[in-house]
Amino acid sequence: MEGYGAVCVLGLGRAGRAAALYLAGLLENGRVSSLDVYAGLDAAADDDTRSLEALGVRVIFGTEEIAGRYDLAIASPGIPPHSAFFRSALSCCTEVIGEPELAWRESPERWIAVTGTNGKTTTTALVGHLLRAGGRAVRLVGNIGDSVSAEIAARPAESWFAAELSSFQLAETRLLHPRAACLLNITPDHIDWHGSFEEYAAAKERIFANMAADDLAVVSREDEWCRAVIERLGTRNVRTCVLDVHAEPDGPCAAFVRDGRLIVRLDGTEHVLLAVGELPICGEHNIQNALAASALALEVGVAAEDICTGLAAFTALEHRIEPCGEAGGVRFVNDSKATNTDSVEKALTAFPRDRIIILLGGHDKDTELGSMASAVAQACKLAVCFGEAGPRIASALRAAVAAGEGPLEIVEEPHMKEALLAAVERAEAGDTVLLSPACSSFDEFDDYVQRGRIFKQLVAELIEKGGV
Ligand code: ADP
Repeated sequence: MEGYGAVCVLGLGRAGRAAALYLAGLLENGRVSSLDVYAGLDAAADDDTRSLEALGVRVIFGTEEIAGRYDLAIASPGIPPHSAFFRSALSCCTEVIGEPELAWRESPERWIAVTGTNGKTTTTALVGHLLRAGGRAVRLVGNIGDSVSAEIAARPAESWFAAELSSFQLAETRLLHPRAACLLNITPDHIDWHGSFEEYAAAKERIFANMAADDLAVVSREDEWCRAVIERLGTRNVRTCVLDVHAEPDGPCAAFVRDGRLIVRLDGTEHVLLAVGELPICGEHNIQNALAASALALEVGVAAEDICTGLAAFTALEHRIEPCGEAGGVRFVNDSKATNTDSVEKALTAFPRDRIIILLGGHDKDTELGSMASAVAQACKLAVCFGEAGPRIASALRAAVAAGEGPLEIVEEPHMKEALLAAVERAEAGDTVLLSPACSSFDEFDDYVQRGRIFKQLVAELIEKGGV
């Protein structure tokens, strides 16, 4: 295999550590001639950095200014391309790539890759689950699991990588070429990092950049940006499976619902899968995720009957429309991972209309709220708004109600706990209390995981005390 010459790694988060450790292993055989790690401004020496140093790596702390010349830089996904750190690397490194790109160059066989604004983790987990149901060895890598580099050395023969790739990771790919890949949706998110929505969308599209007529690109046609991607894939003759939950697409490859059943057509052959009602995960978006994962699994040879068995046994992941208790006929659902408005709109499709009490709020990302406000006004009986973004969301909801979108009751509370108590006070048998906050959590919690766990704990305490 070719050598990389002088290499540097930018950032010592999860991806940076995995890449540095992998590359340090190449110092011995000379495929890497030298390895420097720029740990960033706030990092301090720890056991990991000392082990890297023991392997001959130079770890540099306290600067984001790259000094010297390098053949290759591996940039961590936390470092935006417009930052001084990244620009400094561009000026003195022949090539700057991300960690999944490095991993692909080292171990390019049998990759299935998944991206999209929402649904990546669920779909990647489903792909892994379906491949296992079909008796394949598979590792879940990228955002969902370990960094890909950490998995290369011990990768079993014939095993697949199911890789969840974010726009940050895809922005720094060049040669990455999965055997099958899917793009679920593109809606505005992470504009700060990419600089513009166009750059964010272009980064996602890179997942298909090197794919061709004997690969399979699975793309939803349900948003404008994805439709444009499908057109461009067509001009490049990339084999494309068009995904649509609401209508049946023409063409030799498609994934859709007909007469209430999931169907995937590949090269003109139809594979009839489960009925929608047999899926244990609910909501329209999960039909989309199930269709995408099924198309990817069929493409790599999993039998339709194994896919049906796998789909029927796949339950919700933690913090994604996760049922977390029921008392007095009131259901509680933790969708803490819904950190943007689109995922909230999707969550609303999972429950009976007019019986949803939604908890909305958290750190205010200043996103546009109009479309979500209409959807909430139409589908929910009560919205309890909390946290930093609470007042702005409440006023968007009031505007939707004033515009006649629905007879929604709106309550404001300072924090999530009071919001839950306010919801419980007003809940009646048959209602669903849904935490699907549309915001990140940093005003009150470390992350969405902590928010979701605390929500579940509060629900469990309330149920135990008989407070519902
Ligand atoms: P990601 O890894 O892209 O953040 P997840 O699977 O973790 O996606 O789901 C994140 C949030 O988005 C959850 O609230 C979930 O209910 C919602 N969601 C899942 N799949 C989709 C989809 N296909 N379209 C829109 N929203 C989705």
